[in-house]
Amino acid sequence: MKAKRRIVIVGGGTADWMAAAALSAMLPRQGFSINLVKSEQIGIIGVGEATLPHLRHFNDTIGIQEAEFVQATSATMKLGIEFVNWGDIGDRYIHPFGTFGHAIQGVKFHQAWRKLNADAGAGEIGKYSLPVRMFQAGKFDIPGSIYRSITLSYGYAYHFDANRYAPFLRQISERRGVVRTEGDVNVVIPNPENGEIHSILLDNGAQLEGDFFIDCTGFRGVLIEQALEAGYEDWFHWLPCDRTIAVPSAASIPTPPNTRATAHAAGWQWRIPLQHRMGNGHVYASGFMDEDEAESILRANIEGELIAEPRPLRFTTGRRKQFWAKNCISVGLASGFLEPLESTSIHPTQLAITNFIELLPVTSDMSRERDEYNTIMAREFERVRDFLILHYHVTRRQDSEFWNYVRTMEIPASLQEKIDLYSARGRVARYQQGLFLEPSWLAVYLGQGLVPGQPDPSAAPLDLADLASQFKALDQDITAALASMPGHDHRLAEMLETVSHTQ
Ligand SMILES: Cc1cc2nc3c(=O)[nH]c(=O)nc-3n(C[C@H](O)[C@H](O)[C@H](O)COP(=O)(O)OP(=O)(O)OC[C@H]3O[C@@H](n4cnc5c(N)ncnc54)[C@H](O)[C@@H]3O)c2cc1C
Repeated sequence: MKAKRRIVIVGGGTADWMAAAALSAMLPRQGFSINLVKSEQIGIIGVGEATLPHLRHFNDTIGIQEAEFVQATSATMKLGIEFVNWGDIGDRYIHPFGTFGHAIQGVKFHQAWRKLNADAGAGEIGKYSLPVRMFQAGKFDIPGSIYRSITLSYGYAYHFDANRYAPFLRQISERRGVVRTEGDVNVVIPNPENGEIHSILLDNGAQLEGDFFIDCTGFRGVLIEQALEAGYEDWFHWLPCDRTIAVPSAASIPTPPNTRATAHAAGWQWRIPLQHRMGNGHVYASGFMDEDEAESILRANIEGELIAEPRPLRFTTGRRKQFWAKNCISVGLASGFLEPLESTSIHPTQLAITNFIELLPVTSDMSRERDEYNTIMAREFERVRDFLILHYHVTRRQDSEFWNYVRTMEIPASLQEKIDLYSARGRVARYQQGLFLEPSWLAVYLGQGLVPGQPDPSAAPLDLADLASQFKALDQDITAALASMPGHDHRLAEMLETVSHTQ
């Protein structure tokens, strides 16, 4: 019988257990052994609390019931992010997980909206987005729960306690045969013939051999960087925030179904509602603000009582030059870090695991799979990077050195092209696939006040009276859908009730 392929995962935080749970669910057990090495000494980051809708698919794939997940991780629902003070101090907009209106006679909704707005006034574009209106009304329901097609126009994600997700995934993984070994990796032993990792030596003397290694050791990158020197591409000059101070405060009711990101003088502050507490953190650029000032701004902008001491963290935004080097891939923070403004840190973990499974090497020559994997991951990181930079760069703020720097800095050519295209006639560069699609780019362009120079000719033939009546009908449809939706807390309680009935 052919020997099992041996996969060794090193780490013990969110990324590692996500990898273990997914691999144990998706790979045939007869063909693979999965070992996970976890340090008892080195802590986890565990800040990740706001997610993207893709996490729901990940949970589905590994067979997690939504209500059980919500209960185990004290999760709440997330319809998008509210941005405060970004375009200018006092500005406020919502980036929803959903669309703004629908095409009218083949013309993009936002172009039709611009035409009507210029002539007769149509109100904020958010008025025509169901998730924005749900968010403003504090409502939540599962998309499609009521029979109205408008209720299929949005998605949702979660806010959850990352420190509770890893143990939850651990139980699932161990039930599926993942073997856990305690210990710190002290030495990485190479194969002298090809430089691949042959085995790892733990501080307790144990030695583990593997065919393939997954480095989930966080910012340390114990295998991918310390042993294989895969390199790091630093994006500090475009994304100068490099520190954070995180602190939880008491939960507030009603629980908002959204993350809030409030810009400050040299960074921004998150507010992430969980069932049992509110997560808060100030992400700031240490080149423009010191830690004492950052902490006092954070404290001054928290509504509830603090329930722990503030915790400082450092990071460098960027990506691994080779995500896959030799016989090792890096996953989670070991692969790079995109600051948490759009809650994009857990997502690359999902992407890494899915792509790895698709490209799983079956022969000793892995070079083609490795190249493809590195190309895909680099592209995804760069697309998200551009979207993050957009938030800092498209601003009218001039009230601090930080804002003057990010507003005037040179940006990647790939982003400049997109901004130029939008600035001309409001057209949004399209990706075939990718994390942030047209409605997301529109939300930021419009929300931060980037005004296209010309009207789009595609909207010229539209009749204004007809447009006005279609917009009115859409507004009424949204109002009717909202009227039959429960409040966020009510819907959460209903969901949790289903778990207590099945236990
Ligand atoms: C400020 C901040 C805010 C964030 N906010 C969000 C958010 O809102 N949404 C989101 O999606 N993500 C967010 N993230 C990212 C998220 O926290 C991480 O992606 C997630 O926690 C995964 O981390 P990890 O498992 O890769 O690394 P870690 O949590 O650092 O885990 C690394 C693991 O490796 C182990 N280890 C290290 N060295 C060794 C060794 N030598 N031997 C054995 N084991 C070792 C450690 O014990 C630990 O278990 C945020 C991150 C930061 C820094």
